[in-house]
Amino acid sequence: MTADTLATAPVGGPSLPQERRLVTAIPGPRSQELLARKAVAVAAGVGHTVPVATVAAGGGVIVDADGNSLIDLGSGIAVTTVGAAHPKVVEAIAAQAAQFTHTCFMISPYDSYVAVAEALNRLTPGDHEKKSALFNSGAEAVENAVKIARKHTGRQAVVAFDHAYHGRTNLTMALTAKAMPYKSGFGPFASEIYRVPASYPLRDGLTGPDAAARAITLIEKQIGADNLAAVIIEPIQGEGGFIVPADGFLPAVAEWCTANGVVFIADEVQSGFARTGAMFASELFGVVPDLVTTAKGIAGGMPLAAVTGRAEIMDASHTGGLGGTYGGNPVACAAALAAIDAYETEGLVERAQQIGDRIRARFTDLQATDARIAEVRGAGAMMAVEFADPATGAPDAALTGAVAKACIAEGVVVLTCGTFGNVIRFLPPLTIGDALLDEGLDVVAAALAAN
Ligand SMILES: *Cc1c(COP(=O)(O)O)cnc(C)c1O
Repeated sequence: MTADTLATAPVGGPSLPQERRLVTAIPGPRSQELLARKAVAVAAGVGHTVPVATVAAGGGVIVDADGNSLIDLGSGIAVTTVGAAHPKVVEAIAAQAAQFTHTCFMISPYDSYVAVAEALNRLTPGDHEKKSALFNSGAEAVENAVKIARKHTGRQAVVAFDHAYHGRTNLTMALTAKAMPYKSGFGPFASEIYRVPASYPLRDGLTGPDAAARAITLIEKQIGADNLAAVIIEPIQGEGGFIVPADGFLPAVAEWCTANGVVFIADEVQSGFARTGAMFASELFGVVPDLVTTAKGIAGGMPLAAVTGRAEIMDASHTGGLGGTYGGNPVACAAALAAIDAYETEGLVERAQQIGDRIRARFTDLQATDARIAEVRGAGAMMAVEFADPATGAPDAALTGAVAKACIAEGVVVLTCGTFGNVIRFLPPLTIGDALLDEGLDVVAAALAAN
C-alpha cells in the first residue's frame, strides 16, 4: 500500500488544507488494511491510539490513506511542536541528507552537533557556563543525566517522584512510577532508585512548601543526602497527568538539592521547547536546574535528545564515557537547528501562551456547568482536563476514555494521560490556527456532552 498511497497523497506541511474532513468512518478501508497488516507484522506490545494509516501531516492536521483530515491536538506527543513537516525543517533535512547522513560524532565531528550544543547551552535556564551532550531519545538522555550525576557526585541513589514518567529503558522504567502499561512484568529494575511523593494540588491539598517538606523529610530519613546523586523531576509532569506542582514546591526541592550537593535534574523532554509558553517549563517556576534533559520538541520530529547543564557537572565523565553510535545524528541536528530557529523567530513561545489561554477559557466555561471536570490545568499549550466523579472525587477513567474515543471517531486526535487514566491532554502544534483549534475543542465539548 505504501508506495501507491504516498504517490497519490497530498504533500505534508502547512500547505495542507487546514480542515477537519471525514470522508469515511475512522478507520476507513485503507487504514483497516494497514492495521490488519500491523496486527500480523508488528509486536502486540506496540499499541496505537488513532486507528489510521497516516500519509501526510502539517499545520494542525493529519491526513489518512482514506482521505480523512483529522485535527491534531497531540503533535505526536509534543514532538511536532513547530508543526509536522515544517518547511524549514524539511529543507534542512534534505540539504543535510544530501551532504552526509552519518559519520558518528565520536569518529569525525561536524558543525551541526556543536551548533545544537551551543543553542541548548544558550536557551536552557540560567546564565552559568553550560555544556551539552546529544543522544537519540528522551530515555537515553535521562539515562545519561543519571550517569553524569553519579560520576560527578560519587554517589549512587536517585530520587524520582510519584506520577513520574522518564521512559521505557531499564533504568528509566525504574524511574517511571506507573506499572501499567510501562513496567508490569518487565523487571527486575535498576537499583538505587527511590520514590517520594510529588505535589499534586488537586489530590493532596498541600501547599508547595508543605509538599516539598514531605518529600525532603523522606529523602533525609530514608536515603540520606550523603548517598544521593540526583533528584529528577518533570517540572510539569507529563504522562502522570500534566500535574502542575503547587507554587514553591520546585524551588524548595531545588534549593535543598543545592544545599546538599545533590544534582537537580529537570526532565523537560515533554515540557521543553516553547510548549508551556516559556522556552522551558523550569522558567515558569523560577528554577535553574543543574541538568536539563530534552528530546521530543527539539528537532521537528527527528529523533534527537540532549543533556545540558553546568559545565563542571557535564565534564565529570572521562573522555569516551558518554556517547553512542547515532547520538547527535547530523540529519537530526540539522532539523533541530531549523526547529530552534522556528521557535525563536516565529513567535512560537507567545503562540503557545495564546493557545493555552484559549483552551483554558473553553474548559473553564464548561466546568461551570459540568461538575465532572475536576480541574483544568497546565501551562501554555500543555493543557489538561482531569475528570472525576463530582460526588466522591474518584478519578473517572471510563468517561475520559469514552470522550477521547468519540473525539477520534469525529476526526480530532486527543491523547489521554494520568496515573488514574482520567486526564485528557492537549498538545497542539503551535502552528495550528485559532479556527481549527476551536473546531477541535467544539468536538471535545460535544463528545463530553454526549457521554
Ligand atoms: C517521553 C518522555 C520521556 C522518554 O522519551 P523517549 O524519547 O520516548 O525515550 C522521558 N521523559 C519525559 C518527561 C517524557 O515525556
